[in-house]
Amino acid sequence: MTEPTGKARSTQLGDLRQQNYSTIMRELMRSGPTARTDLATTIAMSTGSVTRLTGALVRAGLLAEVAEPAQRGKGRPKVPVGIDGSTYGVIGVHFGLYRVNACVIDLRGQLVAELHTTERTTRLDSLVRSAARSVRKLVDGSRLTVLGAGASTGGWVDSSTGRVRNQPILGWQNAPLAKALQDATGLPVLVDSQVRALALAEHWFGAAAGVDDFIHLFVGNVVGAGFVFNGSPYRGAHSAAGGLDHLPVPGRAGEACVCGSRSCFAVVGGDLEVARRARAAGLIGDDDEVYDVFGLAVSGDARARRLLQERAALVGKATATLIELLDPELVVIGGGISAPADHVPVLRDSALKELEAHGGGDAAARIVPSAFGPHALGIAAGAIMLDAVYRSPEAFVPALTAPALQ
Ligand SMILES: [Zn+2]
Repeated sequence: MTEPTGKARSTQLGDLRQQNYSTIMRELMRSGPTARTDLATTIAMSTGSVTRLTGALVRAGLLAEVAEPAQRGKGRPKVPVGIDGSTYGVIGVHFGLYRVNACVIDLRGQLVAELHTTERTTRLDSLVRSAARSVRKLVDGSRLTVLGAGASTGGWVDSSTGRVRNQPILGWQNAPLAKALQDATGLPVLVDSQVRALALAEHWFGAAAGVDDFIHLFVGNVVGAGFVFNGSPYRGAHSAAGGLDHLPVPGRAGEACVCGSRSCFAVVGGDLEVARRARAAGLIGDDDEVYDVFGLAVSGDARARRLLQERAALVGKATATLIELLDPELVVIGGGISAPADHVPVLRDSALKELEAHGGGDAAARIVPSAFGPHALGIAAGAIMLDAVYRSPEAFVPALTAPALQ
């Protein structure tokens, strides 16, 4: 082996330092405020290195020392350090059908502010302009310095090219979403599919915090799964992993899927079918939507509850198939199925029954609802950018590379 040249060596050292910053921030996000000596033990780094690196991160505004009540006894008090939620933030933008959600979250993933707009169009340029106006308001109104924006939508989103390859509900084909939003806001923008964004958010600061192998199953207007394996989102060879719309499930939908079948997961188990059935049963009016069915269920309407429980049981069977296929530690359930009327226990019982019938009930994953309720999609879009910040903090916070901080 040859010795690296000066420049290559300094690049290697820079990479190593960046990796160490990332390790420290990820561990503190996972474990909460921690004394430096304990942090050093957990991540197998020397206390001296941890002190030096956390010092730089504190000065850059990424970490903060957490004031503790005065400690009695001998020795220096241990002052824990944690993620600083008061200096930087990221924007999340979710593009849904007739609705754009934008929000600011801090570095701990806490929602700081949120704006919804109702849209009459599905055109990319119009929706991006509307989103950019919301983003500007949020940036101007926030006490946080915004580091960038994450954007999500349903369908097939290629995060590596920043393009939405196919979004059937909005009718987008090969749409350059990242570039359009970046040009309109002046912020760095990363895009991903909403199911992967949801999985990332649950992994960073939600129901799957600390779990490295899990599935996030989203059942709403669309159906899809986000996979996190070994702590990283699984995208597949073409960024298309996670589509479950056309998985055949038991049952028959009132309307055919775009593919012509009436037994696809999206048409049998999705929110649109729930609303259609509720309309057919006279539970809601012609102009009402699935949210009105949720409202009835919450207020105790037995027929609305039964309709949602039937849907939950059906989704439970499909969940059993996913568990058998991938053997995850945890399945997080999100979308209309999980909020506001919580039918996750029905879904869980159905999945367990199915797994037991197949002889594999004992190894069943835990099944839990999403941690974010109605704010999930905006927060999750922000998690796309937050994930990038945690992976390479130096790329987003130039103060970290200043010589005085090294
Ligand atoms: Zn289909």
